[in-house]
Amino acid sequence: MSNIAVFPGSFDPITLGHVALVKRALPLFDKVIVAIGVNSQKKYLFSLEQRLEWLEETFKDEPKVEIASFEKLTAHFCQRVDAKYLLRGLRNASDFDYEKTISQLNSALVDDLETVFLISDPEYSHISSTIVREIIRGGGDASSFIPKAIKI
Ligand code: ADP
Repeated sequence: MSNIAVFPGSFDPITLGHVALVKRALPLFDKVIVAIGVNSQKKYLFSLEQRLEWLEETFKDEPKVEIASFEKLTAHFCQRVDAKYLLRGLRNASDFDYEKTISQLNSALVDDLETVFLISDPEYSHISSTIVREIIRGGGDASSFIPKAIKI
């Protein structure tokens, strides 16, 4: 039986913080599925196709990484792909408060689904997709926060 983890998010866009987290998680799992959760109520800056393409490009040399997207509940997606683990990153106390509730909810929805949290590396803890979007909207240069493969 292989240990599969799902790393869910919006990845709008993917940042160096996400990449660092996935790289640190790879030794822990046989496969990490980086999966874009599609929420029809939410407005994204970049299209799903664009975000998927950037994920594919970023992780093309990582054989243990798979890219996917899903609608509806993350916990049910984990069930479908046979993943027993959810991977999430913690940057600060507000991430913790939010993630704690979501993690408990996911465990209640699907038995034996464990969320594994990795504390962000200090050099990435200030990076978020929200900040990157603000920089882009303001006409600034966000290249030091995103993978080189991404040309915005
Ligand atoms: P969501 O829309 O679910 O918040 P994101 O794409 O913003 O999705 O983030 C996905 C996951 O990546 C979350 O667990 C978040 O905490 C984590 N993450 C985002 N940025 C960083 C970072 N700089 N360092 C570590 N983890 C991060």
